[in-house]
Amino acid sequence: MTHSRMTTRFFCSPAGDLISKMVFTISVAGIIIRILAGFFRPGKNKRVKRMRKTRYNDYRWKEILRGSQLGVYPLRLVWILLLTLTGLSLGCSPKPPDISTCTRIEVRYTRGALIHFIPDTAGQNSLLSKEEKRYIKSFDTWTVTDQQLIKAFMYDVSQGTYHHNVRGTNTPGGVQVTCYRGSKRVASFMVYSMSITTEDKNVFMYSPGMPDLAILAPPGVKPLEARWKCALNLSKLLFEGLAHRPGRLYPDPNQWCDVIVEYLRSRNVSYTYLKDTPEYLRSDASIARMFACPSIHVSTVVSDARANLAKQKVLIWRSDYAMNPNCEPNSPPDTVLLFETKPGWNQHGGPELFTFDNHDPKGGCVLLNDGTLKFIRTKEELQQLRWK
Ligand SMILES: [Zn+2]
Repeated sequence: MTHSRMTTRFFCSPAGDLISKMVFTISVAGIIIRILAGFFRPGKNKRVKRMRKTRYNDYRWKEILRGSQLGVYPLRLVWILLLTLTGLSLGCSPKPPDISTCTRIEVRYTRGALIHFIPDTAGQNSLLSKEEKRYIKSFDTWTVTDQQLIKAFMYDVSQGTYHHNVRGTNTPGGVQVTCYRGSKRVASFMVYSMSITTEDKNVFMYSPGMPDLAILAPPGVKPLEARWKCALNLSKLLFEGLAHRPGRLYPDPNQWCDVIVEYLRSRNVSYTYLKDTPEYLRSDASIARMFACPSIHVSTVVSDARANLAKQKVLIWRSDYAMNPNCEPNSPPDTVLLFETKPGWNQHGGPELFTFDNHDPKGGCVLLNDGTLKFIRTKEELQQLRWK
């Protein structure tokens, strides 16, 4: 570690910060007292009289103050040095790691890739085959060499602002990113949602959706992640849209999509006494995304978090999901309630509407009355489901 890095590290640590603030405060207070003392000095005649009287004492105290009697004559010098260091430490705020020279990024999902991409064990078991799970697990550690992706990630990392310095071990659940130029290690840090922690334990904060780990996701895993997000949409439509409605019945199948939209809009409005206009806590764009299969409507915005923030001006209300009108809340738990179909709005019907084309590998998501999610790959599997 170089000398300047050590100095930076010390002054940016909480103890160093406290010391530099104390030195700064005492210095400023000292200057103010000296100025004020100047105003209240006694008149010239009185001063001369007093000086004659106390000449000896005065001289002695001056010597003590200068430090010569105590054998620490260069006190003033130490003070000046401390002030200089304090001045330096005022501009000490560290910068995010510079990975601009990096040509290769090694990504390690500390909880494993499977949990990182599909953070629900029930979902993993009902939506993925054993081979697919094994395939995702093979990316627990993997290397990105695509220079465009590295540049995009580099930009994200550079946008962080220094927050604080932590002690102890890293918070679990992060993604370890190590950057190399050839075989030389350039930097290594842990990435969390909206923050990173460097090896020096400096924490940098980011705006929502940054740094975007989706940039570094293995391409082969994306279709499987899209399948999970598609199934998650069906789950949200049931638990956030249908299940909490007043009254026990599912809505009229002819307007089930409209009913969910209106319900979600009404649930997420807050009226504050300061404003006359209602504040929408959930944007229409985020409601519209609940009806869109992420596998066919690939967002131009890289991550969900950024998509949520993006203000879409033109909204397309279309639903890639249909409802089974034969399913009621008291129907058997394994009855099909929602399933994938071609784009439309308020679509309802049976297996004839089901589509296998939204996903690659082919298949479609189904939500049963008890909330169970399934991924249906063949016509036989489709026929085996309970539709009435
Ligand atoms: Zn889908």
